[in-house]
Amino acid sequence: MSKVFFIKNPDKVDLLFDAANIKQIINPNDYVALKIHFGEPGNAAFLKPNEVEPIWGKIKACRANPFYTDCNVLYNGPRKETKTHLQTAKDHGYTNVVIPEEDDVLIKEVNLKHFKKLYLGGTALKKAPVIIALTHFKGHELTGFGGALKNLGMGFGSRLGKLKMHQDCRNCDQVKTCRKNQTIEACWVGSPTVVQEKIVEYAYGAVQGKKCAYFNFIIRVSPNCDCFGHNDEPIVPDIGVLASFDPAAIDQASVDLVNQTRGRIKSSNKFRAIYSNVNWEAQLKHAEEIGLGYRKYELVIIS
Ligand code: SF4
Repeated sequence: MSKVFFIKNPDKVDLLFDAANIKQIINPNDYVALKIHFGEPGNAAFLKPNEVEPIWGKIKACRANPFYTDCNVLYNGPRKETKTHLQTAKDHGYTNVVIPEEDDVLIKEVNLKHFKKLYLGGTALKKAPVIIALTHFKGHELTGFGGALKNLGMGFGSRLGKLKMHQDCRNCDQVKTCRKNQTIEACWVGSPTVVQEKIVEYAYGAVQGKKCAYFNFIIRVSPNCDCFGHNDEPIVPDIGVLASFDPAAIDQASVDLVNQTRGRIKSSNKFRAIYSNVNWEAQLKHAEEIGLGYRKYELVIIS
């Protein structure tokens, strides 16, 4: 069982940082990668700089060196290339941002169900001994919800890694003629369960050998992810922010809090009600199976 700390007021995330004792993983002069999604142009639900700056301030107070980071996306758009991705981050108010170029890949060997080799975005993972995932918790059309596991796994994948998470070449009738493995183009063939398990295996590789902590902001819980150039009305009112050292526990606690909150989706399994073909439990189950975390948690409420 893992501890998950909760504060209702998102403006008090500095108190959450202290209560969860996040500073125990940060040494002076450490580079600290703050893994975040900068939001697609036109989207308004992504985390804003002023919402995460208290965490930045706490890291600076540890005399460490934080930077914001994400990796380029698979689909066409400004976040596909480093130059335009950096511009998107800047347009959304972020500075001190690191985005690896397409050929800046960190290959990690693992021995997991789907992957023996992972192709992660290189720079931040090579540079930083500490990763803190700052996650906007929301719905997602392929994973049911997008939480810390998805922020880490899909988020730290290089474009080739993202392709490998999404494709399912063995069950595809285009395999003889397809050149996407060479051109690294978008492919959405993988089933929701398999893609979730693959994401979790990339998350495993991203955090391997690192000191890690996780913040889930359960605010503006839109049904779709922040990769869309728009966002729908939240499915529940803002709930608060969670912090933990366990990415599975924080995601389980987040989905439980959403399901326990009255909102415009009248169901006790809200993400299943929105995406009936997606069993979001697959990512949590696989995270537990590969030793990435625990679904059982103790919720510690901070006031
Ligand atoms: S379309 Fe996707 S799944 Fe099919 S062969 Fe190409 S990359 Fe593989």
